[in-house]
Amino acid sequence: MSPEWLIVGGGIHGVHLAARLIIEVGLQPDRLMIVDPADRLLDRWQSCTEVTGMQFLRSPSVHHLDVHHASLQYYAGKKQIRKTDGFAEPYARPALKLFNDHSYQLIQSLGLDALHKRDRVVSSKPHRSGVMVKLAREGWLEAQNVILAIGASEQPSWPDWAPRGHDRVHHIFDPGFSGWPTAEGEKVTVVGGGISAAQVALRLAERGHQVRLVTRHEFRVHQFDSDPGWLGPRERVDFDRQKQTSRRREIITDARHRGSIPPDVSLALRRALQEKKILWDQQGVKELFSGDEMLGVQFEDGRVMEADRVLLATGFSPVRPGGKFIDQLVDFADLPCAECGFPIVDGGLKWHSRVRVTGPLAELEVGPVSRNIAGARIAGERIVSTVKEQSWKKSVKNSISNVIQGRAGFLRPRTRKTITPTINSD
Ligand SMILES: Cc1cc2nc3c(=O)[nH]c(=O)nc-3n(C[C@H](O)[C@H](O)[C@H](O)COP(=O)(O)OP(=O)(O)OC[C@H]3O[C@@H](n4cnc5c(N)ncnc54)[C@H](O)[C@@H]3O)c2cc1C
Repeated sequence: MSPEWLIVGGGIHGVHLAARLIIEVGLQPDRLMIVDPADRLLDRWQSCTEVTGMQFLRSPSVHHLDVHHASLQYYAGKKQIRKTDGFAEPYARPALKLFNDHSYQLIQSLGLDALHKRDRVVSSKPHRSGVMVKLAREGWLEAQNVILAIGASEQPSWPDWAPRGHDRVHHIFDPGFSGWPTAEGEKVTVVGGGISAAQVALRLAERGHQVRLVTRHEFRVHQFDSDPGWLGPRERVDFDRQKQTSRRREIITDARHRGSIPPDVSLALRRALQEKKILWDQQGVKELFSGDEMLGVQFEDGRVMEADRVLLATGFSPVRPGGKFIDQLVDFADLPCAECGFPIVDGGLKWHSRVRVTGPLAELEVGPVSRNIAGARIAGERIVSTVKEQSWKKSVKNSISNVIQGRAGFLRPRTRKTITPTINSD
């Protein structure tokens, strides 16, 4: 099968883009393929959110995977979900369960599971009329258009001091994470200063473990991970006007509240600290010693703390995602990249006439919210509007050429007709 559209990545962004193409562009589902190695769509979203124990999303209820902004609210009403169960104030942030149910209902209603190829794209070679795509298991196929929606969740950020492959040192966002305590009342050191570290620490404390939270900085309390002004023109004007990609990168870095926690999580954390259910060290980690029974976590101030296990909640690496696959694509098609390595794309998020991007790969165009659900929605709007414009231009061109051909065709018989009677009358 040669799909008209192939989406690489079946996460939040890939699923939303698929919905936009089917609902707004009118793409026939059998012309679309979503390639993702997981057994089910949204797998990385499911496992990363599940591990934190979060009950509600950080983003508001208008940020979901369907096209109409009120779809999630409408779904909750139809399911008669009480407002207090379904949403948390402020900003009516949806419950994770409600968000997931709504997402799976969308996947089901559009039949996206049937379009999901459980495979990994390992290479892609764009040319003028399409893209050759190599799947790890099934080999080469050709798609007319590709959207890269690969996210960053396959690259958890590992501090230099943390050994990989140690049975008591784990990253909570590692695919296949299996690092939960195996005994009661374990001493667990959670490393990280953001919302996920705080949520995991609270989760472990509730289960009766002795939790030590290690953050490099004070708690940074922000409702969202960037100012909501970025969703409209208020914050965007300067960014959009900026042609220098290095300046755009600076604006993104400044605008993101990295390692921040919203007020409700901050409150729960402060309560747990007061009740000594969680101990907190504002310290950098220098080294990790591994003994037979215990681990020794050495801080930069020289102190060494004992731990049964260390859980890293240090987020994702900020480098361009996609590894060798994207490196080779850049080399093969000579695609433009900024100093930071990220794609330089046009307003319709085109990196190549046949390759579009969303998520982290689109951030120099979409801005600080690019990785979030809001970023998926902005990318969806931009991609769909240029696809529609393109197909409108194509259909106008076709109509004009039909009219020209039709007129020629129309003139010919008329000429003949006028000639024939003349001949007949002769
Ligand atoms: C715990 C947590 C909570 C969050 N909460 C919120 C929130 O409340 N609101 C919000 O707006 N955002 C939130 N985010 C941020 C963001 O929305 C999520 O990280 C989201 O999952 C990003 O979606 P994605 O599709 O870009 O990436 P992913 O979910 O990572 O999906 C990308 C998919 O592409 C696949 N892939 C990668 N490479 C290839 C390849 N070569 N071939 C095929 N497939 C490939 C991956 O395996 C993966 O399945 C949260 C993030 C986390 C971690």
